[in-house]
Amino acid sequence: MNSPVPFQLANDLLRHLPGDPELRNFRRQVGSACWSKVEPLRFPDAKLLAWSQPLTQQLGLSPALLGEERFARVFSGSELLPGSEPYALCYGGHQFGNWAGQLGDGRAINLGELHDINGQHQILQLKGAGPTPYSRTADGLAVLRSSVREYLCSEAMHHLGIPTTRALSLVSTGTLVMRDMFYDGNPRAEPGAIVCRVAPSFLRFGSYEIFTARKELAQLKQLADYTIARDFPHLPDSMTPVAETYSAWFDEVCQRTAGMIVHWMRVGFVHGVMNTDNMSILGLTIDYGPYGWLEPYDPDWTPNTTDAEGRRYRFGQQPQVALWNLVQLANALYPLIGDVKPLEAALDRYRQSYQQQWLAMMRNKLGLVQAHADDKQLIEAMLQCFTLVETDMTLFFRGLGELALTTEFHAVPVSLQECWYDAAPDPQAGQALLAWLNRYQQRSLQEGRTQTERQTAMHRVNPLYVLRNWLAQQAIDDVEQGQLEKLHELDQVLQQPYTKQEGKDHLAQKRPEWARQRAGCSMLSCSS
Ligand code: AMP
Ligand code: MG
Repeated sequence: MNSPVPFQLANDLLRHLPGDPELRNFRRQVGSACWSKVEPLRFPDAKLLAWSQPLTQQLGLSPALLGEERFARVFSGSELLPGSEPYALCYGGHQFGNWAGQLGDGRAINLGELHDINGQHQILQLKGAGPTPYSRTADGLAVLRSSVREYLCSEAMHHLGIPTTRALSLVSTGTLVMRDMFYDGNPRAEPGAIVCRVAPSFLRFGSYEIFTARKELAQLKQLADYTIARDFPHLPDSMTPVAETYSAWFDEVCQRTAGMIVHWMRVGFVHGVMNTDNMSILGLTIDYGPYGWLEPYDPDWTPNTTDAEGRRYRFGQQPQVALWNLVQLANALYPLIGDVKPLEAALDRYRQSYQQQWLAMMRNKLGLVQAHADDKQLIEAMLQCFTLVETDMTLFFRGLGELALTTEFHAVPVSLQECWYDAAPDPQAGQALLAWLNRYQQRSLQEGRTQTERQTAMHRVNPLYVLRNWLAQQAIDDVEQGQLEKLHELDQVLQQPYTKQEGKDHLAQKRPEWARQRAGCSMLSCSS
């Protein structure tokens, strides 16, 4: 009996979707095709810096099983696993509100797919392993700093319970990449790296938009039918879709997107570049570029320097931007349905469902179970307090969970004052918070929960450890010097973000003052 070839990869997508007949790798427009074959570059000096222990287990593909050196070769693209047929995907997108035409996997190369221990198909994709037909004017590479950020944040989001693409590994290429980090005419050579991303599908809203924009409706239908059969098999008539199937599919994408954004708002995550090419058809958080985490709560904050003027992708606007992106997807899918009504109904449902889910989520953050008519007011009054003095969002909710609410407050507890970025704020800020606290205390007592019940419930939705921008930057500074301890420590601690861990208080601290203006800690450019 033949035993199965170990680590055999498959390529279902290549068998079912139209491909580009051109095999030479040069930048071009690729019409009527979903993918182009492309070989990754080879990096003889590639070195494995980190890998996700939980994900290697899920995939059955670890450095221990493969051998550490081979693992580094495979996940730098230097050695192909059996069955691998690397390819890049074609897609388009709306960038900052404007149609940008063909974009595509400019520096992502898909190696193939396998089934994880749950029987779920998972595609392995290298980011930064060389140019593709979609690289436009760029080099197909990625720098170490942005790769560390993508690796850490993908896994952190997963452990927070947020739908996301995963990161299996982080490999340094041993080569240098030229980047003008501040776009000020001062490029410098930086170390290169490759992250292996993992997801059941890397299709984006822009994957469908490109076909409609090019009036390639046969290809649009092929891609839609493939997506539904493979990743939405529970929909009615999923094997032979009809107009109702496409409507139900769009509705589900709207709902998944709403759920994802509610999670972002729960933990204070700002994506930074919510272009339609960065919106996953599965409702996964995808493409970690100049993202950031709210430290002082500020709905107007964006970490992306490219967006500093218009602030299109600021924290508080993410739900509206997701809706705008869904409208673009609706336009792209319209030819499959031929009727706007079901599309409009799904967009309406997004609006309603987002509101409901947001309210439920905020109630959970406050440890409230029963719905009261004035909950929204209570929440808005709290957010109003955050505008009076910079308040660390993550620490505030943890601190709130730990307060005993038995008696009226006569002063703001020290544990909450410590969440302020200003040690001596305007007395008005303290008075407002005190008034709110007493209102919250009254409301909370009506729930009849014990302090332990309330705290346990709150700590399940309010993380203690998030990937604070300055912590990520400190890890990057060290990794660039060859020191991996901080990277590994963050990787480890962020696997249990809701659980207080011994000796890890330094990872649950307000942003220090020095980090306020430092690049990488408060603002990031798109250069990566
Ligand atoms: P992003 O803003 O990262 O979502 O990228 C937008 C588009 O630019 C996508 O098509 C990327 O593949 C492409 N891109 C970004 N950086 C590079 C790079 N260094 N080399 C090639 N393509 C890139
Ligand atoms: Mg992108």
